Amino acid sequence: MMKNTLTIAVSKGRILEECLPLLEQAGIRLLEDPGKTRKLILETSRADLKIIIVRATDVPTYVAYGAADLGVAGKDVLLEYGGDGLYEPLDLGIARCRMMLAGPAQATNGHGRLRIATKYVNTTRRYFADQGKQVELIKLYGSMELAPLLGLADRIVDLVDTGKTLKENGLTPLELITDISSRLIVNKAAMKMKHGIIKPLIDDLARTVAR
Ligand code: AMP
Repeated sequence: MMKNTLTIAVSKGRILEECLPLLEQAGIRLLEDPGKTRKLILETSRADLKIIIVRATDVPTYVAYGAADLGVAGKDVLLEYGGDGLYEPLDLGIARCRMMLAGPAQATNGHGRLRIATKYVNTTRRYFADQGKQVELIKLYGSMELAPLLGLADRIVDLVDTGKTLKENGLTPLELITDISSRLIVNKAAMKMKHGIIKPLIDDLARTVAR
């Protein structure tokens, strides 16, 4: 951890795309087009600040261990990560969607305990435990929508934006688990040691988000 420099971990795709305009309004521009380079460390118009490109689920890990001082992560990823070592000072309001329980319109569960396929096993377990319900969880890494169609599970828990993916696979949204957006996260030690450069950045971003 270099005392006078900042590293921000961001994942490629929707989060990076929606993050760039916010950073620009805080005076931070990328020096290279992220769509054209394969570099994973991107220099910015601020010599003391670089962006690193990591997998969405790895963002909390880089920040918790201090390999990156800050990060931008979906609330879905943060809920599932569950570790400490992180502050979450700002809701950036980007990459919004909903985490939902979904399933076939006609309920199929006739065999007792509900079977749910999801990437979000910890969050899903907590959601049902809070209602005093025990469910059987099947961890998947993608294409959750297939699970009910093939009889692997009764329901799924997944992110829903327009609802098109559910609809095209014959599934219906059933329950809202939580609204999702991307959050700025900060390593706890960096927040102390680099307060002089991190605090103004959080304030700049907070002003931009509030506009
Ligand atoms: P949609 O068909 O618009 O409802 O989008 C649903 C698909 O996009 C699902 O496969 C989700 O996992 C994914 N998705 C939607 N919104 C997000 C988001 N904010 N972050 C990550 N994945 C998302």
